[in-house]
Amino acid sequence: MAYHDADGLKALIRTIPDYPKPGILFRDITTLMASPMGLRGAVDGLLLPFLTAGIDYVAGIEARGFILGGAVAHELGRGFVPIRKKGKLPWRTIGQEYSLEYGVDTIEIHADAIREGDRVLLIDDLIATGGTASAATQLIRRSGGTIVAASFVIDLPDLGGAERLRASGVEVHTLLSFEGH
Ligand code: AMP
Repeated sequence: MAYHDADGLKALIRTIPDYPKPGILFRDITTLMASPMGLRGAVDGLLLPFLTAGIDYVAGIEARGFILGGAVAHELGRGFVPIRKKGKLPWRTIGQEYSLEYGVDTIEIHADAIREGDRVLLIDDLIATGGTASAATQLIRRSGGTIVAASFVIDLPDLGGAERLRASGVEVHTLLSFEGH
């Protein structure tokens, strides 16, 4: 398998119909992460365009963004900043609400995690509507940081999230895409 190849990585992702709700095709990356070639290929693919981009911090979105983002930070030789669901971080936080299909949710970052002028690479496993990544972008910007780019393994282009994020001035990098939801 050519492990940097999108088709090779795509073949390692398991699709689970009707999880967690009827009508959703859940793209399960546990099978990709369990593969040594898959994990290395995905992590390298996420960071390669940004090797010389002058990143100060890698921020990862709970929970799969922690696994991939931690590995990316380690490989770049930079620190990792967690962005978590409301109420999970122990110190002072700033929060950002975002819309879900039904209702709203909030993600948070430690208030002192990112400082004025820090250059941040945002990592998550998948971008769908872009609501989560847009909220994370706002947290980074409100902290005074510059979001250099957002990097995802999977894009669901039919949901328009990557385009929406680009429209807000964020460089978006994705490794592979699936049609539909
Ligand atoms: P969104 O905010 O709509 O872009 O959703 C992105 C977040 O929800 C990511 O953290 C994903 O892990 C998760 N997610 C959304 N849709 C899916 C899907 N079809 N399969 C797996 N994870 C998903």
